[in-house]
Amino acid sequence: MACHWGGRAVVPARVVRNWDLEPRPVCQAALQQLRITAHRPIINLEKINPRLFSLVQELGLVKRLRTELIGMKKYLTVCRKATEDHVLWKHVDAPHLIDSLDMYSLQDLVDTNSGELPFKLHSLVEIFSNHIKVDCEICKGRAHICVICLCNEVVYPFDTTGHTCSNCNSVMHKVCYNRKNQCPKCLRIKSRMEEEQNNNQKENEEGTD
Ligand SMILES: [Zn+2]
Ligand SMILES: [Zn+2]
Ligand SMILES: [Zn+2]
Repeated sequence: MACHWGGRAVVPARVVRNWDLEPRPVCQAALQQLRITAHRPIINLEKINPRLFSLVQELGLVKRLRTELIGMKKYLTVCRKATEDHVLWKHVDAPHLIDSLDMYSLQDLVDTNSGELPFKLHSLVEIFSNHIKVDCEICKGRAHICVICLCNEVVYPFDTTGHTCSNCNSVMHKVCYNRKNQCPKCLRIKSRMEEEQNNNQKENEEGTD
């Protein structure tokens, strides 16, 4: 058999199953295939083995940073100044990292393990956040006032200290939300609806008298 030439490679199945990144002997054809596909975002880790995100600290960190970056991307794509300065794409060499949250290439996983990817994403967060929170008047103007405390300390939906209501999209500080445990806007809507219902009921009752 002329198949094995002593080539070694990280085996995707072992990585996603056990976070085993030890290079193993693979046959020439497999090695070729792995070289071709290593940079393609074809691994949906969230679907195949979501447990890994809590078991592997670096992987959890990468997920958190990607979540933040995707939230910031929403600001940058609608900002005229960011578009002019190419803030978004100038620094990103693997667009899939900020296009979706779930897809990984084998190389991403190898670089997560080595610490290279978390490092890279961290500097991206810094660049993006500098534009949005410091340099750009347009983006700064789109910061939110917390709907609970209404204080001067603005909050952005992508902030790890922020919370966005899943129902009405209101933005608030996470600490404020944790204290109140409900969204004031949703609460107002709910009580208004109840009031209307009560009024209707009353009218109906008066009508039957
Ligand atoms: Zn901007
Ligand atoms: Zn607040
Ligand atoms: Zn709400």
